[in-house]
Amino acid sequence: MRQAVMTEPGVIQVRDVPTPVPGPDEVLLRIRRIGICGSDMHVYHGVQPFTKYPVVQGHEFSGVIEALGEGVEHFSPGTKATARPQVVCGRCRPCRRGDYNICDSLKVQGFQAPGCAQDLFVTRAERVVPLPESFTFEQGAIVEPTAVAVRAVEKAGNLAEKNAVVLGAGPIGNLVAQAARAAGARVLVTDVSDYRLQIARKCSLENVSHAKQETLADAARRVFGEDGFDVAFECVGVEGTITEAVANIAKGGRIIQVGIYPEKPRVDLSLVQDRELSLIGSLMYKHADYQQAAALIGQGKILTAPLESKHFPLEDYLSAYQYIIQQAGQCMKVFIDL
Ligand SMILES: [Zn+2]
Ligand SMILES: [Zn+2]
Repeated sequence: MRQAVMTEPGVIQVRDVPTPVPGPDEVLLRIRRIGICGSDMHVYHGVQPFTKYPVVQGHEFSGVIEALGEGVEHFSPGTKATARPQVVCGRCRPCRRGDYNICDSLKVQGFQAPGCAQDLFVTRAERVVPLPESFTFEQGAIVEPTAVAVRAVEKAGNLAEKNAVVLGAGPIGNLVAQAARAAGARVLVTDVSDYRLQIARKCSLENVSHAKQETLADAARRVFGEDGFDVAFECVGVEGTITEAVANIAKGGRIIQVGIYPEKPRVDLSLVQDRELSLIGSLMYKHADYQQAAALIGQGKILTAPLESKHFPLEDYLSAYQYIIQQAGQCMKVFIDL
């Protein structure tokens, strides 16, 4: 079967390797779509600090169950499926209390463990999430970033009738905004990209603001009135957006940190203290978040079609990266088709 390997930053070889065989409690998946995200771009550029080369990438994927290992009975070959890319130890303190998404020795497939950029891929049955036949493979691959959004929204508590600001309208910010809306929040999305705000509108996120043309305070007043917002999701990972969130959120508000910071930000903790703000981190997801993400997409509460930008075949993996770089922010999800 074919396997795409990044041998060093910016170099991908497609080679022929033996087909893997599922062992006990494992499932063999035929991979059909792989989504590329910002973290993959970091690997391409050689700036992902925890990834060694050569690496087989691919952590957002969908496919079809091809075969079952011994002891796997609750799935059937031919079913569409996706799977969590988390390899965890099961023994550390976070794992023992069920918080395996922050396992002390967490390995993410596609980064610290081999990913799915190959025709057939073996994974543990406990990580597999079956998908309805009505799912497109693109929707299946978008379950992963949607699960990130679902967990972030859970961290915000009960969102019914709450006013929420999502800073950043890239794929994660867009999905967080849609998940927050599904949880009952009134949502305002901000970004500095007209393109991304336009995609947000296509996902029926009507309240958007261009952060270079309108201050967050003005946008919040325009959309929410004098109450402002009680919840903020930082989905960019730069000092400017977390600063805006801390400075403008209502007293007693909750800020969920979703974006990843390439550079350490300075945050005004005196405001956090004085206004009793909560700063809450959110990393990846648990299995139930994956299932919830698939359910929200299946129910049409999270729209994915506006996020689907372009497709490349496995042989042109590198072209997908080059395309994303050329587009300079004018694209959302790019897929590898197998
Ligand atoms: Zn990703
Ligand atoms: Zn662990």
